[in-house]
Amino acid sequence: MKITIPLFVLLIVFLSSSCQTQPERSQSVTSVKDWSAHLPESITHIKKSEEEWRKELSDAEYYVLRDKGTERSFTGDLLNNKKEGLYVCRGCGLPLFASDTKYKSGTGWPSYFQPIQKQLIKEDTDYNLGYARTEVMCARCDGHLGHVFPDGPAPTGLRYCINAVSLDFVEVDPSTPKTQD
Ligand SMILES: [Zn+2]
Repeated sequence: MKITIPLFVLLIVFLSSSCQTQPERSQSVTSVKDWSAHLPESITHIKKSEEEWRKELSDAEYYVLRDKGTERSFTGDLLNNKKEGLYVCRGCGLPLFASDTKYKSGTGWPSYFQPIQKQLIKEDTDYNLGYARTEVMCARCDGHLGHVFPDGPAPTGLRYCINAVSLDFVEVDPSTPKTQD
């Protein structure tokens, strides 16, 4: 799913719903870099029953986000998305990855070399395939996102291999004026 909303509108909604200490609201947020500077210092955990999640998510979303499944490679709607914007958790809307860290890994799943901030992602060790892999989850709703592997590109050397069905994309509105760096 692709949504186009002016980024500052979403930022204000996000800050008012999730921040415990609210930074100053800015109306000049027009790029993913601006956005990352305004993320919360702490995250309020979301806990819902499996029944509630089943009502809110599609079968495919539930299978990946709550049952820790994996979508088939090369089937994700965001795999080849090259637009500027933010990838947010499909379970709770928390911004997780920015478009300027997405790269083509050839694996068939959206790949990023780092999250917007480390604290937005939770990690755990998973042995489902008989060997240890590092699972990555949304830090706010515990939704399963995918795994992180140590074979990514510079500057981190990491590959966050993420199911597209775990993400929504929020495009930076191309009509908003750019701020000067
Ligand atoms: Zn989430």
